Amino acid sequence: MKSKVFFLPIEKINEIGKFVEEIGIFDFIKEEEKIALKIHFGNTKHNNQIPPDYLKDIVRILQNKNCFPFLTDTNVLYRGERADTFSHMKVVHFHKFHTLGIPIIIAGGFNGTDEVPIEVNYKHFREIYVAREYTEIDGMVALTHFKGHALAGIGGTIKNISMGCASRKGKFAMHANIVPQINRSGCVGCGSCVKECPAGAIELKNKKAYIDEEKCIGCASCVHACPEKVISIPWSSVSPEEFQERIVEYAAGVINMYRDKFSSLNFLINIAEDCDCLSNPGEILCRDIGIVASKDPVAIDKASVDIIKDVAGKDVFLEKRPNVPYSFQIEYGEKIGLGTSNYELIKFS
Ligand code: SF4
Ligand code: SF4
Repeated sequence: MKSKVFFLPIEKINEIGKFVEEIGIFDFIKEEEKIALKIHFGNTKHNNQIPPDYLKDIVRILQNKNCFPFLTDTNVLYRGERADTFSHMKVVHFHKFHTLGIPIIIAGGFNGTDEVPIEVNYKHFREIYVAREYTEIDGMVALTHFKGHALAGIGGTIKNISMGCASRKGKFAMHANIVPQINRSGCVGCGSCVKECPAGAIELKNKKAYIDEEKCIGCASCVHACPEKVISIPWSSVSPEEFQERIVEYAAGVINMYRDKFSSLNFLINIAEDCDCLSNPGEILCRDIGIVASKDPVAIDKASVDIIKDVAGKDVFLEKRPNVPYSFQIEYGEKIGLGTSNYELIKFS
């Protein structure tokens, strides 16, 4: 059976309220239910994240349902912006998410250690570790800024829910065994990777960069930061396929907690080559397109790449990272029942 994916073109962005009401994407939400609006608040060095203005009507509609919506994310693994609740809230205020007037909850405790193990029994994980608050809610709406990603090829709903809802331990588990390699003969000792590394894992010795494997958290920020392109992911230790399967298992474990009370909106705007976590997410790969919405996390990500491919006239994500095909997460998501890539696209008019 085909999953429905709804599309609001960017020219009609002012009609986002009408769009979400007509497609019934929030129909599952009842009075007094606690609804997590899972988002990424971005980085103060750029403006690629979802603009709060785009969310005003969504918040109003949810408030009219007399439920308890809150904006939420978890703290990240690495130092710097969003590493703990206090720095994370600075990002929230910088981009003015507080002006939406609903609670903002950084889940999983100050340092991301307040977690609940959830039994899943998949191929890579028997149990996953999820920030406690996400186990105490009635439903979830993923609000995802869609873009490229160094490790997953794309950062869509699956990535938002998997890495974004995991506790610190869960995030480590998904990144395990990913340590980039440096081709030192090409290293010019510029120090960009040292500056960008959020874990303090890189140092220069005799003007050459070295990674401390004990400290590395496998975030791949250095790969993007190197102007000489001499840092790469040794996909022989963990294949892109395995990494993507890991994130799919986490996404499925989280979403299965409230299977019929989940929906998702992907914002196809500021479609950069890299994640909002980075201070420099790289070049914009495609013009702004609009918003897609669905209750199926696989279908919405598949539809998003298909629409972007159509508008750009090429597969911008695969062209950027030919060694990291995002198709693994779509295929594995189907295989373990997270959703289907067989969708019907319904354009809002
Ligand atoms: S992947 Fe690179 S940037 Fe990330 S922690 Fe490891 S060395 Fe640092
Ligand atoms: S960014 Fe690249 S060239 Fe610069 S120090 Fe690091 S590895 Fe060497």
